[in-house]
Amino acid sequence: MRFAPHGGSCGHSCCLRVENVSVRIGSDSILKDVNLHVHCGEMVALIGPNGAGKSTFLKTVLGEREYEGIIAFSEPGQRSKKPRIGYVPQSPNFDPSDPVSVADLFACCMSKRPAFLGLSKSMRETVLECLERVHGTDLIDKRVGTLSGGELQRVLLALALEPMPNILILDEPLSGVDVEGMETLMDMLDEIRKTYDLSILMTTHDFSMLPRYADQVVLIDHAVLIKGSPETVLNSEEFSRAFHMKGGRA
Ligand code: ADP
Ligand code: MG
Repeated sequence: MRFAPHGGSCGHSCCLRVENVSVRIGSDSILKDVNLHVHCGEMVALIGPNGAGKSTFLKTVLGEREYEGIIAFSEPGQRSKKPRIGYVPQSPNFDPSDPVSVADLFACCMSKRPAFLGLSKSMRETVLECLERVHGTDLIDKRVGTLSGGELQRVLLALALEPMPNILILDEPLSGVDVEGMETLMDMLDEIRKTYDLSILMTTHDFSMLPRYADQVVLIDHAVLIKGSPETVLNSEEFSRAFHMKGGRA
């Protein structure tokens, strides 16, 4: 990964420039010559059919896949400092009978103290502050396996926001969330983006949300098919062919 200097002033958020990125896994070409630019403070949605390479692309940006090409971040302030990336993976499945609570999950991720000893008072306050960012302080003692899809996404989001990243990457945050919950979650992401000055790159299959929330949509199927405003992409021939839909509707 290469961190390139950037001339403009971007505040806290950072921009991401991807040039001619190709990824192979074994003998398979998963991504070919992908070009895209997430501008500072933008929300960019990456869409594409199942198996198109969306998750692979996110993992490549996170530095977890080998690639050819250039992945460059603007510097978020001090020179030579790498940007902080917050990542919300595709919803993991938790067993409803698993006794792990939200507090335990934070303890495992944020503290060296064994989770079975419980949270120290100061740590509990820190966790509550993290959950406050996603309006989720009431979730702290709930078992992770019993959370609804929307609640789980908020908890994972709260984890990804500590420490506060410069760019936030989310893999299908709306899957498993009901329609009402989707809007709440997207409103929350929009609010977080503005409050903390973040850039957001997310994958989704929920196209109805795009016109209202995304600044830019990138349609991929192993390569970029089309990118632009939500209206441009959702009304394109490329979109119709990829999803057999018109304007985001079947
Ligand atoms: P999407 O997220 O768009 O559904 P993925 O990025 O998960 O697609 O997968 C793209 C393609 O890459 C699929 O054909 C998948 O089987 C393959 N793939 C992804 N990860 C691996 C891996 N670790 N090993 C082998 N093939 C993989
Ligand atoms: Mg995926």
